[in-house]
Amino acid sequence: MLHAPRTALREEEIPRREPGPGEVALRVRACAVCRTDLHVVDGELRNPKLPLVLGHQVVGEADDGRRLGVPWLGWTCGECRFCVSGRENLCDRARSTGYDLDGGYAEWIVADERYCFPIPDGFDDLQAAPLLCAGLIGYRALRLCGEGERLGLYGFGAAAHIVAQVARFEGRRVFAFVRRGDEDAAAFARELGAEWAGGSDELPPEELDGAIVFAPVGALVPAALRATGKGGVVVCGGIHMSDIPSFPYELLWGERVVRSVANLTRRDGEELLTLAPRIPIRTHVESLPLAAANEALERVRRGDVRGSLVLVP
Ligand SMILES: [Zn+2]
Ligand SMILES: [Zn+2]
Repeated sequence: MLHAPRTALREEEIPRREPGPGEVALRVRACAVCRTDLHVVDGELRNPKLPLVLGHQVVGEADDGRRLGVPWLGWTCGECRFCVSGRENLCDRARSTGYDLDGGYAEWIVADERYCFPIPDGFDDLQAAPLLCAGLIGYRALRLCGEGERLGLYGFGAAAHIVAQVARFEGRRVFAFVRRGDEDAAAFARELGAEWAGGSDELPPEELDGAIVFAPVGALVPAALRATGKGGVVVCGGIHMSDIPSFPYELLWGERVVRSVANLTRRDGEELLTLAPRIPIRTHVESLPLAAANEALERVRRGDVRGSLVLVP
């Protein structure tokens, strides 16, 4: 449990909440760690529920044996102008799992069943967990990038390692940008089908049609624009980013677009979880016991992760 920003999580026994109407109680089988969890702990995302159970990439099992995934989108109002126009990801009153609602760094979770996704057969619990945020945000960001063939990925972590597989399946060419000198990340990107991997301050051998910036580093936005050709789209995939430095208008000229991607809709989830077994997506995961949650967060902070870390109660 998180009791205050910028403090370590504490292991505690808390009473199990009984599910209300429309809710389901799930025994947590796995919960992947997301950089957003770190932004909550660090106080960069304001006003979380406190005390709070983190975690929004939850694979749980219901009493009847069904495996359900619980994502970040935990509840929406269904009435606001965003909800009624197919943009529930932007709902004014949305509640987020592991932020406004208790999440999956726990043995049990209670979730609104309307926002849960059935986990496809063929994905074990560990494999499936990172699809629920890293996969979903990556997928939505890829859709917002347009149809272009040459895709740049800035930051080759949990989301990029999944979206690279979707992009390759769609016949796109992937160019990966990692921290200068991070040979391990570059090699990982090549293993997953990137035809080029280099430092984030380098230019790729060809100009890009679109790019997704997953690293929470504002300076990568002008860097990505510089690498992107006319009409290209740069999508910012994170919920928090350091300030974007000013840049010459020339980098935006030529109908280049900069946009963010926020949250997910249930439709994104249905699409990705239908596509995932067809590709099939293979997530790279390392499991840690739930009690190691603080250590897992520190490793995400350091970038000391290949793919995703998954907590197992
Ligand atoms: Zn709404
Ligand atoms: Zn997340």
